[in-house]
Parts: sequence; C-alpha cells; structure tokens
Amino acid sequence: MLMSSSDYRESLRAYRPRVFVQGSRVESVPDDPRLAPGVNAVGVTYDYARSDRFRPIATATQHTSGATVNRFLHVNRTTSDLLAKLEYTRAVCQETGCAMRYLTMDGFNAVFQITHRIDAEHGTDYHARFVDYLHEAQEQDLTVGIAMTDAKGDRSLRPHEQPNPDTYLRIVERRPGGIVISGTKAIVTSAPYVHHLLALPGRNLLEADAGFALACAVPIDAEGLTVVSRPAGRPGESGAVFSGRYGQTTGVCLFDRVFVPWERVFMCGEWAFADALTKTYAAHHRQTCIGARAGFGDLLIGAGALMIEANGLCASRSAPLRDTMVELIKVVESFYACGVAASVYGTVDPSGAAEPEAVYANIGKLLLSTKIYDMHRLAHTVSGGLIVALPTPEDDHNPETGADLAEVLTGRPDVPYEKRAAVARFIEDITASYAGGWMSVISLHGGGSPEAMKGEIHRRYPFADRKALVERLIDRGLVADEGDAKADATAKADADSGTRAAQPGQCCDAGCEAPPVPAPVAPKITGLAAGDD
Ligand SMILES: Cc1cc2nc3c(=O)[nH]c(=O)nc-3n(C[C@H](O)[C@H](O)[C@H](O)COP(=O)(O)OP(=O)(O)OC[C@H]3O[C@@H](n4cnc5c(N)ncnc54)[C@H](O)[C@@H]3O)c2cc1C
Repeated sequence: MLMSSSDYRESLRAYRPRVFVQGSRVESVPDDPRLAPGVNAVGVTYDYARSDRFRPIATATQHTSGATVNRFLHVNRTTSDLLAKLEYTRAVCQETGCAMRYLTMDGFNAVFQITHRIDAEHGTDYHARFVDYLHEAQEQDLTVGIAMTDAKGDRSLRPHEQPNPDTYLRIVERRPGGIVISGTKAIVTSAPYVHHLLALPGRNLLEADAGFALACAVPIDAEGLTVVSRPAGRPGESGAVFSGRYGQTTGVCLFDRVFVPWERVFMCGEWAFADALTKTYAAHHRQTCIGARAGFGDLLIGAGALMIEANGLCASRSAPLRDTMVELIKVVESFYACGVAASVYGTVDPSGAAEPEAVYANIGKLLLSTKIYDMHRLAHTVSGGLIVALPTPEDDHNPETGADLAEVLTGRPDVPYEKRAAVARFIEDITASYAGGWMSVISLHGGGSPEAMKGEIHRRYPFADRKALVERLIDRGLVADEGDAKADATAKADADSGTRAAQPGQCCDAGCEAPPVPAPVAPKITGLAAGDD
C-alpha cells in the first residue's frame, strides 16, 4: 500500500503518543499546528511515491517480497538503487528543505545487513525477524524514526561507566516474551509524527557494555515512552514563508521500562556488532545526507539568482556576482558528486544489500558539514542586507507604511516589491532565522560530527594501494626511460596487482560499473523537468 499525505496524516490518529511541546501535552499530533510543518514535509514523501513524475525514483521493488514500496522503506540491492535514492532524496529536499523519512531507509538497510552477520556468527534468527518487520512496515507504509543518538552523559565515559545509566538506552530485563528497555535517545528527528522508532546503538561497545547492545522497533505510543519535542519549523510566524509550511523537529525520547516483544528485537547483547551497525548505518546515512543537502543547496542557488535579478543586477555581467554564484554551485555539486561516486562504487554484501562506498560517502558528508556555513555566506553575499533588515509582512499590509515601502524598496522596475520581499524573506527564513540555524547544525552534526567522518575516511582509505604504487615507482627508478619492453612489463604488473589506479571502493569490476541513471533524473543539475502532477 502506498499512502497519500492525507492518508499518512490520518494514520497518525491510530497512535496516541505521549508528546510534549513547549511545556504542554500534545492532544493530537496531526492536528497540532506546532507540528504541522513536519507532518507536511514527511507527507511529501508519500505523495511523490504516487505521482507520475517521481514514481520511478520514489518507489522500488522489495526483493524479499516482490512488493512495490516507497524507496524510503526499501533495502538497496544495486548501485542503481543507491543512485536513485540519492536523486529521490534531493528531489524531496528541493521541495521541503528536509523531509527526514530517508532516515528510515538508512536504518532498515543497516539492520538488514548486520542481522545477517550476527546470525552467521551466533546462529540467531534476527535477520528473519527483521525481514518480517520490514515487510510489515512496507505493507503499512510506515515512517520510522531512527533513535541512535543516546543522551551519552559524560562523553569521556563508556555507557557502563555513566553515573546515570539512563543516559544510554539499555536492556533492563529479559522476559520469556521479550525485553524491557530504559534510557534516553536524545536527538530523534520527526519523533512526534513517526509511527515507530527503530532504536539502534550509537557507538562501539565493549563486553562490559553488552546491556547497551540493543536494536529494536517500538511503536511511538508504546507504554512508558515519552517524547519531549519543540515546534517543527516556524509555524505561524509571519515571515516564515518557507518554514511555516515545511520544517522538522527533533525529540528527546525517554524510555521508562518499555516492553519490546522478541519479534521486534534485532540485536540483544551482541556487543561486538554495535560498531559495525553504527558504521554501516553511517555509510548509508551520510550518502543520503548528501542528497538532502544538495536539495537544500538548490533552494539557495535559486533564491540567490532571483535576488540578484530583483536587485536589478545580472550575474553574467558582474564578475563578483558570477564568481559568488559559481562558488555556491561548486560547493553543492562537488559534494553531490561524492554521493554519485559513492553510488557508482557501491558494493553488495553477503546479505544481498548494496552499500554506498564509504570513503566518498564520508567525504561528501564532511564537505557539506563544513561548507554549509559557506553556502549561507555566499547566498548572503549576493543578496544584500535586506534579507534580515526588511520590515515584517504586517508592515507591508499596514495602510500607513505599505505603499511607501513598496515604492522605495523596489529594485528592478519589472520585479514587483512583493516578489523581491518574498525572495528576501525566503532567504532569511532558510539561512538567517531559527530554521536557517537548524539547517546549519543538522548539516554539521546530523549523521555524525566531522570527527566521525574523518575517522571513517582515514580508516577506510586504501593507503596500502597508495604505498604500493610509490614503492613500485621507487624500485624501478623515477627518471629512467628503459624502453617499451619495460613499460609493458610495468603496465602488466600494475594490471595484475590491480592497485595502480585503484579508487576508494574499486575492489572489483562489478563494484565499479556505472549504474544506469533512472529515467526522470537526468535533468538534475538544471532542475527536474517541468512537473506533470
Ligand atoms: C537537527 C539534528 C537532527 C538529528 N537527527 C537524529 C536522528 O534522527 N537520530 C539520531 O540518532 N541522531 C540524530 N542526530 C544526532 C547526531 O547524530 C549527533 O548530533 C551527532 O552524532 C553528534 O552527537 P552529539 O550531538 O551528542 O554531540 P557530542 O557527542 O556531544 O559531540 C560534540 C563535539 O564533541 C566531540 N566529542 C564527542 N565525544 C568526544 C570524545 N570522547 N572525545 C573528544 N571529542 C569528543 C565531537 O566530535 C563533537 O565535535 C541529529 C542531530 C541534529 C543536530
């Protein structure tokens, strides 16, 4: 079943989560205006899967069931899947800025892979349990929040060393029918308006931390679960031309003796696999973040270009403006290119799931994490100070000031004041408001802080190949030209060793084949073709 956005909104009524926002209990999540921008944004992911325009990238066939499912619930099988999810994520974020349902997909892929590995080593049946749950989530077209980041308490201490054990989610009791869990997941995107949470470990663990080695799914209204959240976006604010409609929130999820039946438990004490689960999730999610932030970058590029025009200028005739816009494009498309490379060099693991190449995924995420601040600066540079100095929409509508403002604050004569003001407020909203700050911080820390990416890049980079390359050059002498025979022998040795030009992830022919590009995606850089829905 593929729900529409209104079906999704209705489906939330079947749940009665205990949610607090700004100090008060939320009576009905789908009806609370403070959460509406979040529900709207996630709703887009439902409508896209049903639209003629986006269906080819927004849906996929789940190989374990043959069902057509929303791609954000799909287990990737091929490098084409990885590319399609990147494009779908970008398309969704071009519309919403950030529609976090893709987290579900990243969590599902990681659990699919790692349960397969745990079973192979321990003879458990987690993988089959998870596949049953996966099918159920796909059948019901659920949105599942990823609860990975624990409160963590004192960062210098391991989970079992924390004075307050509730700073990490943990197993507190094992019963014949399931387990009881307590603790805190501190940052869970979309928590109030998801159907379920998928709780995962957020770090490597030692044997002493075995009680924290836990992966399981719980309904958002499970008894004992409380979500403390904040408004999504900037609902109701007059200048919030974008984030009044689309936005996201995060929730602190407090688990107080929540019971989880065994069929929803996918890791229970296998501490040695926590690191692999965290890092596998990270590889998927960081590549997805690239698509998400590219969609946001498209909004900045479009808004910057409109603001230049509204100011009466032309970037192709002004070198500083052109250079600034090119810098913005360069940033966005360079991290996006890393996402494409991570797809192309993706590999399929023994579970049958395709995983993005991790060096490119981490480099792309590292780039966007640090360049998000430059992206904002570049958009500010071409726009001018009016984006934060413009009076509010109420002043536009005030008969005592409106006409004067429109007269003197018009730029190019054929661009009405209202349009110039709307673009200025759009840029303020997505870069210089609370919502803009949120976008910076999620880019920096969401999916892991920069240090986490640096660690993964260094750990996974093929240094051995690079060292072998130089050692061969040293052995053979750097300057000698000993004729064609020697050159041919060298080329053959390089080919035999397979290391001469190895790129990260280029471990086999299959992993390096360029996947076919899904049909509706080709015009990406210039924007998707004009819509037909
Ligand atoms: C808007 C937003 C949405 C998010 N959504 C989700 C979500 O849906 N699900 C989810 O699970 N997570 C989510 N996250 C959490 C995200 O993954 C974390 O923010 C990130 O992993 C960093 O963890 P932290 O915020 O606890 O920071 P900290 O761990 O406190 O790190 C802060 C800084 O300290 C450094 N540091 C941390 N520990 C050490 C140490 N021992 N030694 C030296 N330096 C250290 C870090 O590198 C970092 O620079 C979200 C984050 C944001 C901002």
